[in-house]
Amino acid sequence: MAVKITDICIACGACIDECPVEAIVDEDDSPNDDGCYFVYNNKCVECVGHNDEPACATACPTEGCIVWDAVAESPSHREDIGDDKRSAHTPVVE
Ligand code: SF4
Ligand code: SF4
Repeated sequence: MAVKITDICIACGACIDECPVEAIVDEDDSPNDDGCYFVYNNKCVECVGHNDEPACATACPTEGCIVWDAVAESPSHREDIGDDKRSAHTPVVE
């Protein structure tokens, strides 16, 4: 999962001081030039160990502004890859 601030952010600033790990930056420090606040996912710990819920999302007055990416699907397990998916005939080494 990853926390993301979407482009409906109104840059109100309510979230930034709530973050326990300073993962949020304002629109001036955002790597995106969209006038929105930004979450650095390499810093965000999803509030685990700090709050019961993501503090930024709780503080945000703009409904739907802070979203959570869906958990990425795991790659297929090798035993789930049937013959139909093993039909490539292109040799790896020519
Ligand atoms: S979920 Fe928690 S740690 Fe992550 S950006 Fe929001 S307040 Fe910060
Ligand atoms: S609280 Fe919500 S609307 Fe306000 S700056 Fe943070 S993400 Fe944007």
